Amino acid sequence: MSTTRETAFTITPKTDAISAAERAALLANPGFGRVFSDHMAVVTYTEGKGWHTPEIMPRQPLMLDPAASVLHYAQEIFEGMKAYRAPNGDALLFRPEANARRFRKSAERMAMAQLPEELFLDAVNQLVKLDAGWIPDPEVGTLYLRPFMIATETALGVKPSAEYKFIVIACAAGDYFSKDAGPVTVWVEERTVRASRGGTGEAKCGGNYAASLTAQQEAKANGCHQVLFLDANERKWIEEMGGMNVMAVMEDGTLKTPPLGGTILPGITRDSLLTLARDKGMTVKEEPYAIEQLYADAASGRLRELFACGTAAVVTPIGTLKSAEGDHLISGQTGEVTASLRKTLCDIQFGRAEDPHGWMHRV
Ligand code: PMP
Repeated sequence: MSTTRETAFTITPKTDAISAAERAALLANPGFGRVFSDHMAVVTYTEGKGWHTPEIMPRQPLMLDPAASVLHYAQEIFEGMKAYRAPNGDALLFRPEANARRFRKSAERMAMAQLPEELFLDAVNQLVKLDAGWIPDPEVGTLYLRPFMIATETALGVKPSAEYKFIVIACAAGDYFSKDAGPVTVWVEERTVRASRGGTGEAKCGGNYAASLTAQQEAKANGCHQVLFLDANERKWIEEMGGMNVMAVMEDGTLKTPPLGGTILPGITRDSLLTLARDKGMTVKEEPYAIEQLYADAASGRLRELFACGTAAVVTPIGTLKSAEGDHLISGQTGEVTASLRKTLCDIQFGRAEDPHGWMHRV
């Protein structure tokens, strides 16, 4: 288990925080993305001066000029990660350096200032330390962390901004999908695409998510929880879901997932599950999977389990794929491999099991 060196953040604590009893009531059933912690970390970038003024302050609205470039040209990137409560009360982060690296790569793709990975880690670490009381009990959930960067230069005109803010906020998070509902139903989007070759698919930028929302609406209108996107060229290959990667368990025990080719977000959960599957002796294949082949494999029984994976969704079984042509049943219940991978991952994340790969980081 590693810990982080600390930069000098100026800390201004919130003085009118709610009572412990009020917080406990909120944390008993937080839902997802609505119950926010007390503080936020902010670091400012100015061209010529670099990153400066690291601060942690009470969570508050931002002051932005209406001409701030992010509002017009969408120079915005973000990350999603979690703080977990270990049995001994410690606050733990899972592979935070992987988020810091992906954040830097997203910034590079969006022509934004590069945030040193150390600074990213420090900001997250210090915010979690200060707001550790907002981490729900493990049975309820986690503290979801949202580091993000916006372009703040007051200037119209399409060019990379000369000023940025890096901010970290946090919210208590219960299950992304309701636990009782069983495997989710997923809409196969054949009309719009999320990303194309040479585009921004592998960057975690807000625009990718804006582009995915009509498909999300269509999914909902068709009674589905999530969307599965296909490739932009042929609408033939499965890529990923709106906010998670996708994996298949085949009849021979192989774990199969689409390869990272620039159009898919390189999920940290995806990477971790591939490692854990190899640890379990499974064969792992990162190879293209055609949607028609997947339907045929579901019908023949060659495809045994299908699941979504990501920080928010953890490992969520997919029961049915739905498209304009009809329904394809994968399985009515959570598969054995899906359940076992989920348990192995969660036991490590919540500090209940050995951490053979040194993924956990004590705050
Ligand atoms: N794909 C997309 C589009 C996502 O938004 C996410 C969530 N970050 C993922 C995959 C899964 O990534 P991770 O496992 O790092 O959360």
